[in-house]
Amino acid sequence: AEQKDKDYIWHPFTQMQDWVKEEQLVIAAGEGIKLIDTQGREYFDGVSSLWLNVHGHRKQAIDQAIIGQLDKIAHSTMLGLANVPSAELAEQLVAIAPAGLARVFYSDSGSTAVEIAVKMAYQYWQLKGRKQKKQFVTLTNAYHGDTIGSVSVGGIDLFHRIFQPLLFQTIHAPSPSCYHCTLGDNPQQCGMACAQRLHDILAERHDEIAAVVVEPLVQGAAGILTQPEGFLRRLRQWTKEYDVLLIVDEVATGFGRTGKMFACEHEGVNPDIMTMAKGITAGYLPLAATLTTAEIYNAFLGGQQEQKTFFHGHSYTGNPLACAAALANLRVFREEKVLASLPAKIAAARASLAPFREMLHVGDVRQCGLIMGIELVEDKISKTPYRGEGALTMGDRVCRQARRAGLIIRPLGDVIVFMPPLASTPDQIKEMLAIIQRSVASVTD
Ligand code: PMP
Repeated sequence: AEQKDKDYIWHPFTQMQDWVKEEQLVIAAGEGIKLIDTQGREYFDGVSSLWLNVHGHRKQAIDQAIIGQLDKIAHSTMLGLANVPSAELAEQLVAIAPAGLARVFYSDSGSTAVEIAVKMAYQYWQLKGRKQKKQFVTLTNAYHGDTIGSVSVGGIDLFHRIFQPLLFQTIHAPSPSCYHCTLGDNPQQCGMACAQRLHDILAERHDEIAAVVVEPLVQGAAGILTQPEGFLRRLRQWTKEYDVLLIVDEVATGFGRTGKMFACEHEGVNPDIMTMAKGITAGYLPLAATLTTAEIYNAFLGGQQEQKTFFHGHSYTGNPLACAAALANLRVFREEKVLASLPAKIAAARASLAPFREMLHVGDVRQCGLIMGIELVEDKISKTPYRGEGALTMGDRVCRQARRAGLIIRPLGDVIVFMPPLASTPDQIKEMLAIIQRSVASVTD
């Protein structure tokens, strides 16, 4: 399989990481929070298979639910037909989602869930007769996916440059990331000046702005940039005040990642549109959902008129197998009281992260529930990336070292990202962080 992979597969992003190609691991199986390669070696899945896996691999309750659904039907179209698991799941998603979200639009990935959210918001204002509301506000360095619409509302320059002028025009507000304050302020005294900038954009241009799109509490792909408390709450207040929709992207943060089912709950925020993917099927099958309010849904009713139809619909939308997996995922959350188990795990992680702060080349340690980022720097004053010797970035070198020691983690530049499955025990979390600490020490000494 190693050779066939090398010969035929085009991997996402790995052109940028030669060491990954050179030391290609082919995963043959999984068991609990471990991955097993074709040589029989075991690795902790420290990225939850790209932030998806919740209850571990080969979770019996989910395996059985998928097999049970296979005995009935694997797929039928949602265009003009309904199916049982997607209807059951929609009811349950609405029940657990923040108040006011009342309708579920299914798709297949986080990117498409965001694409749908953006298109919904755009068309909603047209239906309301507010044709000029076409702008989106997003945070610098935001990542919302890789389809054209979701790239438009992202803030990563590298992804933007190539695809101009295909993208929607967006207004970028400064990311509220205190360690690298975009405004050069002191977070202890700034009074959240970045939020104030966002307010000013809304105050000046709300007539043109359809929606603000935001990752709640933490910008993941930007390097685990945690937001100050109250940021999201203020954003909700101002978007209401200025009649702008709030789209909250819970693709990465949803399904327990931050310690609550959805990150919005920490701030008591009810968005107008919310996206979910990744953990929705506990990492089993591709599925995503865009939830919205009755008001937005009702604006699209009366499908006879062409402009009222929402022009979006994928072949695999509402896939019964994936919905059966998602239903089993939610059942495990309830029956195994997963949310109640999280505080002990989050506390174990916090305790094990503390010694990292003393390390010479660790500039910042950021944690939001079971989402963690350890930023390597040249020195704690300059905060510049730590280059060390050799061609590889230090982030790559730490992750390579950890992999050799039996843990899969991923760098985002020089930020080491750790996202263990929620099923990890406090001791396993400590063990994984000890591997990371040793890996950082060995490459930065
Ligand atoms: N939104 C956020 C916040 C994400 O973190 C991601 C993926 N990392 C996406 C959207 C895109 O999801 P997908 O990769 O499933 O398309």
